[in-house]
Amino acid sequence: MLLLDGKAASKAVKTTLQQQTQQLISDGKRPPHLAAVLIGNNGASETYVASKVKTCEEIGFHSTLLRLDESITEAELLEKIDQLNNDDSIDGILVQLPLPKQISESKVINSISPEKDVDGFHPVSVGRLVQGLETFIPATPYGMMLMLEHYKIETKGKHAVVIGRSNIVGRPMSVLLSSNLLYGNCTVTITHSHTPNLAEITRSADIIVAALGRPGFVKADMVKEGAVILDVGITRVPDPNTAKGYRIQGDVDFEAVSQKASAITPVPGGVGPMTIAGLMKNTLDAYTRRKG
Ligand code: NAP
Repeated sequence: MLLLDGKAASKAVKTTLQQQTQQLISDGKRPPHLAAVLIGNNGASETYVASKVKTCEEIGFHSTLLRLDESITEAELLEKIDQLNNDDSIDGILVQLPLPKQISESKVINSISPEKDVDGFHPVSVGRLVQGLETFIPATPYGMMLMLEHYKIETKGKHAVVIGRSNIVGRPMSVLLSSNLLYGNCTVTITHSHTPNLAEITRSADIIVAALGRPGFVKADMVKEGAVILDVGITRVPDPNTAKGYRIQGDVDFEAVSQKASAITPVPGGVGPMTIAGLMKNTLDAYTRRKG
């Protein structure tokens, strides 16, 4: 069984980005610049944003963290995004989700300039992805594609089953795996909470992407011998034996499924680090495309 190590694979991506950034600086250019918008005090969001900012520093990108109060109005937030859109020194903008309830997520996503949409959630980015055009791929599916590439996992002609159809993970991943790409060309089945006989479907999968947010959902009897398993789930499960009082658990019963899988991502340390790598690649791409 091959452990798909997200820390190692993301390090490889980050090292390349670091070298490309060094080259830009040697050429007398400024480095790429990511602006992250964090609203309120959600613990998980704080952790994710801190990790993104830290990775920017490691690579040599500039980053700006805009912290806004939980009580901000939608109009005020849209005004801030407009300022970032019009700031020529900023290449990529991300607004950490979820948003406070008074703010429409779709309005915020739509307000980010498509040329700075490094999260790849804007309808223009999604449309371009579906049409196979140059775009920003949402970071988590992008990270998983980079993982497949890093470990040279054969995908052509395989049956991939994606569990979950969210706009940020499941649906774009189903599009990528079915696209005519070196690590695509799968026959894809996308499943969701209304899918009957899910276990029957997953048992026929060569590749399973578990992105539903239910810890330990994918059991060994749902998996074919030799399948490749990408576990996207990140759920905080209460655990009094840890300092934080919780541990992170994936959507796959790792202990049992890893006995049958040919390759599997751990949680943590699998898809999570690759997500940040995907975001960083998008940021450099945004810079390059804007600079023409
Ligand atoms: P989401 O928006 O809640 O979507 C979950 C999807 O799973 C929905 O499409 C839902 O179906 C489907 N689902 C729920 N129960 C199901 C069941 N019993 N059988 C089949 N499908 C089922 O979640 P998300 O944002 O995609 O995130 C999924 C998980 O990935 C979460 O644990 C999240 O924390 C994690 N995540 C990790 C990363 C990372 O970097 N590693 C990034 C993003 C998200 P319906 O559409 O029918 O409701």
